[in-house]
Amino acid sequence: DKHPSGTESMVVDKLLGGLLATGFDEESCISRYQATSYRKTSPHKPSAYLVSKLRKYEDLHKRCGPNTESYKRALKKLSSSHINGTTDCNYIVWTPSNGLGNRIISMASSFLYAVLTNRVLLVDHGTDMAGIFCEPFPNTSWLLPIDFPLTNQFYSLQPGNAHSYGHLLKINNMNISTVSQPPSFLHIYLAYNYDRHDKLFFQDENLGFLQKVPWLILKSDQYFVPYLFLIPSFQQELGKLFPDKETVFHHLVRYLFHPSNQAWGLITRFYRAYLASADQKIGLQVRVFDRKASPVNVVLEQILGCIKKEKLLPQVDEQKPIASPSKNQTLRAITIASLYPEYYERIKSMYWMKPTVNGDFIGVYQPSHEEVQHFGNNVHNMKAWAEISILSLSDVLVTSSWSTFGYVAQGLGGLKPWILYVPAGNKSTDQPCPRGMSMEPCFHFPPDYHRISNTRKRLDTGSLVPHVRQCEDASKGIKLF
Ligand code: GDP
Repeated sequence: DKHPSGTESMVVDKLLGGLLATGFDEESCISRYQATSYRKTSPHKPSAYLVSKLRKYEDLHKRCGPNTESYKRALKKLSSSHINGTTDCNYIVWTPSNGLGNRIISMASSFLYAVLTNRVLLVDHGTDMAGIFCEPFPNTSWLLPIDFPLTNQFYSLQPGNAHSYGHLLKINNMNISTVSQPPSFLHIYLAYNYDRHDKLFFQDENLGFLQKVPWLILKSDQYFVPYLFLIPSFQQELGKLFPDKETVFHHLVRYLFHPSNQAWGLITRFYRAYLASADQKIGLQVRVFDRKASPVNVVLEQILGCIKKEKLLPQVDEQKPIASPSKNQTLRAITIASLYPEYYERIKSMYWMKPTVNGDFIGVYQPSHEEVQHFGNNVHNMKAWAEISILSLSDVLVTSSWSTFGYVAQGLGGLKPWILYVPAGNKSTDQPCPRGMSMEPCFHFPPDYHRISNTRKRLDTGSLVPHVRQCEDASKGIKLF
């Protein structure tokens, strides 16, 4: 069919340069194709190679997904302790740990690992994440069926447990080649407190062995993608998939995570009511990990210092009761995401009590203040997801150091954030919120490079791979840029 001129480019845009597949029922997930009209067009296009690889992955997932013949065959292997013969479908089962931001960055990492190793990603969203995301792959499901036989083991996914890959390496003196028969499944533990054996997951020489294991059951709260770029066997393929290293998470998160209709309702109602008419939208995420160590006044001072130093919003005029009417009167909306209400209240009051020096009007909004992080609560996660998404619709984004919640917002929005250093102590700092070097998340707890690669080389020199650096907000962490 011929499209009238213009329509075609609109269609392409709606699919984010081919990143998103066609063939979905649009009504069942309105955000998938509508989100683009709430955002500026991303200047970052996916490579043609990534696009074709995603379509291939979708075919694989459809062929191997829940309730297919291949899936049933693969399940049968689980009941025998060792595998004989090859399998046509291999899987990686993702299990949750930690907050929503942590979960999203680790699901994205697991997906990339699945793509690189021809595995099918299945996710255990349990009840607390049920119904907050749409299905990412057409005509199939990525949700792990509830009758999956190993779910009762998920709680034992901890460092060094008996079914873990780390444990297997340990009892075989790190020499995996002595294991003649690969097991039908292995636990892969890659969360913040993983041990030195678990970390050997990243060892290039063992990839071949892992490939023979049909089921990997993963627990991770990390964005482990940067380390995949350090594994020689993956480097060429990753280079083709992502010629621009800074866009890895940006593409993955936009491909995988679409707000469900219910979540999209929260996002769009907030947007329409408070943000749509603003000339500029600013997102400010204030994540305070320790309220005692970081008193409200000190954090507030840091935020105000950040706004002033980086000129994110105009200052208030202490002298005049009313702004001179001649100015162009720009409307700026700042959305604050935080568990606590105080930052919002103080900033809102500040811009209500005094005019700005340039006559701009500042709207200050906060969608919710949940006070504490809840676990196992679906509505709480829905709000968190809505707020992450609302932040991602900003023109200018300020995130908080060390927060994965902020990482997801910056990736979705394609925004290079200003990183607010939430001070631990009684003083604000001179550099309250330096600009991040990329929109990529930080891998907070990477393994030591010299242990994995058996060399004396260290990563921190920056010379080893040109596009992996120490994170701005975590000295031991690494990130792509
Ligand atoms: P991180 O701990 O900052 O790295 O982010 P996570 O998302 O992994 O975990 C924090 C969790 O606390 C979130 O998932 C939410 O459940 C809750 N939370 C933290 N900050 C906010 C916020 O600004 N808004 C909402 N709604 N929830 C938040």
